[in-house]
This record gives sequence, structure tokens and C-alpha cells, in this order.
Amino acid sequence: MVNYKDLGLVNTREMFAKAVAGGYAIPAFNFNNMEQLQAIIQASAETKSPVILQVSKGARNYANQTLLRYMAEGAVEYAKELGWEHPQIVLHLDHGDSFELCKSCVDMGFSSVMIDASSLPYEENIALTKKVVEYAHKYDVTVEAELGVLAGVEDEVSAEESHYTRPEEVIDFATRSGCDSLAISIGTSHGAYKFKPEQCKRDPKTGRLVPPPLAFDVLHEIEKKLPGFPIVLHGSSSVPQEYVDIINAHGGKLPDAVGIPEEQLREASKSAVCKINIDSDSRLAMTAAIRKVFDEKPGEFDPRKYLGPARDEMKKLYMHKIINVLGSNGKAE
Ligand SMILES: [Zn+2]
Repeated sequence: MVNYKDLGLVNTREMFAKAVAGGYAIPAFNFNNMEQLQAIIQASAETKSPVILQVSKGARNYANQTLLRYMAEGAVEYAKELGWEHPQIVLHLDHGDSFELCKSCVDMGFSSVMIDASSLPYEENIALTKKVVEYAHKYDVTVEAELGVLAGVEDEVSAEESHYTRPEEVIDFATRSGCDSLAISIGTSHGAYKFKPEQCKRDPKTGRLVPPPLAFDVLHEIEKKLPGFPIVLHGSSSVPQEYVDIINAHGGKLPDAVGIPEEQLREASKSAVCKINIDSDSRLAMTAAIRKVFDEKPGEFDPRKYLGPARDEMKKLYMHKIINVLGSNGKAE
């Protein structure tokens, strides 16, 4: 049993309360490897932004849960070395799908876990979430739950059919489950293909897809039912078209990849939305930088020569999100 407090990590409770009151959102970035983690910590330290490091099921399978935990522990020390005196770093389990998995993360030093039982019937979702909450709270670990179903594919989390969160259920759900934050479905979606072309309009000038707007009416209704309660948005990459263009110009093939416009995420950040999950955008930044090196310097074979530029590009992206989209810069001085 390792407690996250001994690793220098924090849970989300105070962070979220401040974010809701302050009208900004905390970035939740997924990580799978060292370069990604370095980029996240460098960007957070430089902007003094609280940050949530997320570990998905895919990441655990790829990089190993134990190794990721030690990396997060190292990240706290690395942040201090970079001059961030009081780093506020959360280590969060993304899309936990069972009590056993959530328990194992609590036991090994995660400071926050998500139990995603949103695919289960309503009462079963409450029961499983409550079970996780009861265990996690014993160790002061915070719990994110999900109500409503998001479309798209993200590391083995996939759903064919999405439906919006029903505002009439949120009070009952939050009260009975005891969760600390709630992921809702208002039209965001996992992955780099968030919308089918038939759901979008096409800009006649650029030929690019214009996605349908998020359901802000549903979000505002939920906020009214649960004033001040921390709301989470998954699947909130914006799929920057400059990365898609670089990838496609250097031998890639990502036709019609489209995400959530950043203006809408900025608007959501000002509401009760206090955690915004971004994964695909950093994958795109990394892929764009690597493809460019491979295309322009075919003789290059030192991984540092293409992972280095990938890291720089991801850091740029993270800083942009923190400063221009979520507004969390300077909130963890
Ligand atoms: Zn998600």
C-alpha cells in the first residue's frame, strides 16, 4: 500500500473547487511514455498550471501500471527541479472499468480514479460508483464517475450509440453515488474522428468539416441542478488542422479528422466544467513532428532526433491549451 501523499501528488478536490469558482478548467493529459510526460511537466511547470496525468487502460497495457506510477512520482521531483516550487500534480486512472482495478490504483498511489460504469443500467452505475467511492475516500482519493454515453473510440473504450446526460438524473446520481466529479455527455467524443461527415457541414472555402456545436443547453441545465459541482468533459481534443495537414503532407492519411472547436472548450471552461481531457491532440502533434523528420531526413535513425522534436511540439501544444483554452496558467504558483 502506497499513499499518493507520500509521492507528493494531490487529489482533485481543492483543485476543482478553485477551478469552478475561478471559471477555468484543469487540463487532463494522457501519457504513455517519457517524452509525453516530460512535455506535460515542462508545460505545466513553465505556466504554473495544476495538471492531471491520466493513465488509460491502453496506457497500462502499453507501458505497465507500476512503471507509470513511478514515472509520475519522478514527475513531481522533475517539476521541482524545473523551478515549480509547489507542483500540483494529480495521478488519475482514466476509464476504470471495475472495482478491482480502481482499488489497485488507489493501493499503488494514484490520487484520483475514474469508475466508468456509464454503459451499465442506471442503478448498477450508482452501485458500482458508490462501492469505489467508499473505498477511495478511506484514503482521500477522489472519484470521477460518468453519466451518459460518449461516442467514439479511445483506448478500448468505445460506444456505437451515444446519448446525452439526462439533467433530471444528475442530482440523484451525484447524491447517491457520492462521486466527487461527473463526466457528462454533451456531444464530445473520443478519438480523432469525432464526427461523421454526415453530422457536419462542409466549409465551402476550405473544404473542411464543420462539426455540430456542443449541447450547451444540457450543460447549463446540469449546472443549475448541481450548482458548483465539478463537471468533466472527455473526448475534448480539437484535432488541430495544422497537424492533420503536416501529417497528410508527409505521407500520412487522416482524411476528415475533426474535433471540438477550441472556442467551445474555452466557453465550457468558464462554466462548471473543471476538467477537460485531451489525448488525441498530443498524438497528432507527436505524429506530425515525427513524420516530418522521417520525410525530410530519411537518413535519420537516432530516436532522440525525432522524439525530441515530437516532445517540443507536444510541449507547445500543452502550453497553448493551458494558456489559451483552459485558462489554468498561474493557478498553481
Ligand atoms: Zn474518456
